[in-house]
Amino acid sequence: MTVTPQASRLAMPGLVDAHIHPDKTSWGGPWMSRRPAATLADLIENDRATQFDFELTVEERAYALLSNAVANGTLAMRAHVDISSEIGTTHVEGVRAAADRLKPFLDVQIVAFPQFGLLTDPGALDSMTESLKVGADLVGGIDPVGVEGDLHGHLDAIFGLADRAGRDLDIHLHDGGEEGLAEIREIARRTIAGGRQGRVSIGHAFALCDEALPSLGETLDAVAEAGIWIATCALGPDPVPNLERFERHGVQLAVGSDGVRDSWSPFGNGSMVDRAHLLAYRTGAITDAELERAYRLSSTEGGKMLGIEDLATWNGAESATRLEFDAVNTAQLVVDRPAPARVIRAGLELPALP
Ligand SMILES: [Zn+2]
Repeated sequence: MTVTPQASRLAMPGLVDAHIHPDKTSWGGPWMSRRPAATLADLIENDRATQFDFELTVEERAYALLSNAVANGTLAMRAHVDISSEIGTTHVEGVRAAADRLKPFLDVQIVAFPQFGLLTDPGALDSMTESLKVGADLVGGIDPVGVEGDLHGHLDAIFGLADRAGRDLDIHLHDGGEEGLAEIREIARRTIAGGRQGRVSIGHAFALCDEALPSLGETLDAVAEAGIWIATCALGPDPVPNLERFERHGVQLAVGSDGVRDSWSPFGNGSMVDRAHLLAYRTGAITDAELERAYRLSSTEGGKMLGIEDLATWNGAESATRLEFDAVNTAQLVVDRPAPARVIRAGLELPALP
């Protein structure tokens, strides 16, 4: 099937959101006022307190956010969805139901994410195991030291589950400093030992953004050797990678939204054009090549991370999967952040969504 490209428009690769939390969003509902938070523990506690207050269901809020993301050109996403002994698999089922309504335009890979701890929440591992049968694709993890206080215990649990279920891993890691780097090197060691090269991702990885750390170089090399993908979100106060340094060490990087208008932050809109702009802004982009890189990290690099053929490659304006923008070139597109005029996946044009 073909939809003829419009010559006056700029044709671009489909966008990929490499790290998003659709079950936490307030999108589609009333404005949510946030509580203050000074630490990661405060943010997680606010999140827990908010989860049961929403008027709309997980499916309703996730559909509202996902449909907005598709209209803005996101054709695939890696969705980290909370599981816990309290939540069970309900959020995974809600996000999967929302995602099913957006086929065949949007691919959603769901990570079973132990936001509230795994070792510290008896029953969470059972919920993770169960969630892999009802819609989750990957096994998640969270700061083995900062949240769980047991590096090897946490990694044994999630790598063990991934082995038993035959799934890939995508791990949240906010821990900074040399300790954060040591955790990342241990994840790289286990990745290689288990023959999992290219099938493990780490979200945030703030320690890899700290140029002052003596073992940064060797850790970047270990990440590259293990083929680990890093997902960065270019969030307001959080560290961002030195993109040249990552390239020099051969580290694979993609970009995501993280939480969108949830208890953690009032910001975000699910548009990866907007996220490419924020990454370019946060990393001090000046040249067209730097702006184009921000788009590439938000599109084809994400497609490679998720292993989705039509989003990992780009064959120009005739591609059966493409976005068409009213923009003069990629650099201006990233600066002005318009929504695409047309979204085309495998020859089908996205209709107006309910
Ligand atoms: Zn996250």
